[in-house]
Amino acid sequence: MKKMMLVAVVLGFGGMGVAADGKFAWPEGRLAAITLTYDDAIRASDLDVAAPQLDRAQLKGTFFLMGKAMLTEDVPRWRALADSGHELGNHTVNHPCRRGTFDMPPQYHSESYSVDVLLTEIRVMNTLLTALDGKAVHALATPCGHTEAGGQDYIAPLKASGLASFIRDPSVTVDVPRGPKVLGNGFVGTSGADMIAWVKQVEGAGGLGIVVFHGVGGDYLSVTAEAHQQLVDYLAANRARIWTARYSEAMAYVVKQGR
Ligand SMILES: [Zn+2]
Repeated sequence: MKKMMLVAVVLGFGGMGVAADGKFAWPEGRLAAITLTYDDAIRASDLDVAAPQLDRAQLKGTFFLMGKAMLTEDVPRWRALADSGHELGNHTVNHPCRRGTFDMPPQYHSESYSVDVLLTEIRVMNTLLTALDGKAVHALATPCGHTEAGGQDYIAPLKASGLASFIRDPSVTVDVPRGPKVLGNGFVGTSGADMIAWVKQVEGAGGLGIVVFHGVGGDYLSVTAEAHQQLVDYLAANRARIWTARYSEAMAYVVKQGR
């Protein structure tokens, strides 16, 4: 799993629209929301670095787990992560992406899948997640931000299946009349100062900022542990103005409040 799990570095989560006055009413008068998401079940980055930093700051993140990266011996740790209030999400079992995205056996290319096979895989991953966190529904992050299986777009059948409470993908928007501006960013090699500068842009827009991390303090597509700590410290110090929310918590709020 050292090979690159590529996602679009800048994710265009736009299209939700801005209320007429440009302001969206975040909880307790806060000005903006940030959701920190961590992909691919990267055990060292997630369990040893990112989650402990968040815990010390009393912030919670969302971990989109990929079944094939998970070791049996880590089950108690993923369960403890969920028990401590972090969100577990679905990132499929085998992480199919388009041929040529990164080096992986051809049977895992999305061209080799069918929609039915992928939805079955997502259902199996949900069962694993439920065994870990006891929750009946889970959000899903699309592998590589690709939405085809066997040449067919799977977003509509995925929505119809009810297997994902929310779908994190640049092409998927939440259709509410008064939603916030939504900004996405997949930080790779970004300094703490630059991540904080981006959060300030989200604040300025009164928006929802969706951050996608992979490696933290190592692994791949990474930011350093120090940079991640600086971002966490900024979010903790500014918690009265910025709502750092789990992904599904933020999305559920947007759906309810943006109606
Ligand atoms: Zn991924």
